[in-house]
Amino acid sequence: MARIIDGKAVAADLRARIAAAVTQLKSAHGLTPGLAVVLVGEDPASQVYVRNKAKQTAEAGMHSVEHKLPAQTSEMEVLALVGKLNADPAIHGILVQLPLPKHIDSPKVLNALDPAKDVDGFHPINAGRLATGEPALVPCTPLGCVILAKQVHPDLSGLEAVVVGRSNIVGKPVAQLLLAENCTVTIAHSRSRDLPAICRRADVLVAAVGRPEMIKGDWVKPGATVIDVGINRVGTDGNRKLVGDVDYVAAVKVAGAITPVPGGVGPMTIACLLRNTVQSACTISGLPLPPL
Ligand code: NDP
Repeated sequence: MARIIDGKAVAADLRARIAAAVTQLKSAHGLTPGLAVVLVGEDPASQVYVRNKAKQTAEAGMHSVEHKLPAQTSEMEVLALVGKLNADPAIHGILVQLPLPKHIDSPKVLNALDPAKDVDGFHPINAGRLATGEPALVPCTPLGCVILAKQVHPDLSGLEAVVVGRSNIVGKPVAQLLLAENCTVTIAHSRSRDLPAICRRADVLVAAVGRPEMIKGDWVKPGATVIDVGINRVGTDGNRKLVGDVDYVAAVKVAGAITPVPGGVGPMTIACLLRNTVQSACTISGLPLPPL
């Protein structure tokens, strides 16, 4: 049976280190990292995420601001708020919760963020910096994936990594981060031929597809490390549960290590958001990033 990579524990550890770094930044430099979260509309899942983000930001000793706007808020009003937050010296990180309502052009809003405060790492400037190996704010879930993979392989260098999924928010940045760790990286997607064979090559297999339990046990190379990013709600009322993109019950018997869903990649996302906020606060203030 595979080792279960406990994302909850790894995230709690990271949050504790962040809280210690925040205490140090406050006492030594009078700097309190500040995160603003913007939520437009009443999407129930987004409301839960935003509540958790605000709670964990405050618990880490940071300044936390929530802007909850009604669903009918215009694009111009959202852009005006982003402009205000860009200019606010108490705010070092801005997160616009996705999805935005349909009448709002999401890329336009995300591109309006000051790249120095783009703690989600979705701005093209940060994506470009990541791709070219310059210091960047890196998307949170992908960063969480790599931190979890490093629990098993502190040195990922030379390993075969396969990332299934090529979205801008998960697949591509995970692949970039693994490349930066000197993995040999394959990115697979819906047009890839013989996906099972591609997956079987992986020492590190990252599943970011959004299809419940699509990656089967016999697609996993014996002993591989499996990082399951998928969050899929399945079942009917009364019997609803969360499953990943990997058939966990089968894969756990083949893999060397695997992240569960829930309790794997999920908890890492907010912890990495807090980490990025500390990073942006330090960069904006001209301070070195404390070791996290
Ligand atoms: P997207 O829908 O944006 O991307 C899915 C990717 O999977 C696409 O690149 C698509 O390929 C590929 N894909 C779809 N079907 C297949 C298939 N049959 N075979 C091979 N590849 C396929 O999803 P996201 O990247 O946003 O999210 C992926 C998963 O991660 C979701 O379950 C999501 O809920 C979860 N997630 C979890 C987070 C967390 O843990 N905090 C945060 C963000 C996402 P193509 O490009 O060819 O269409």
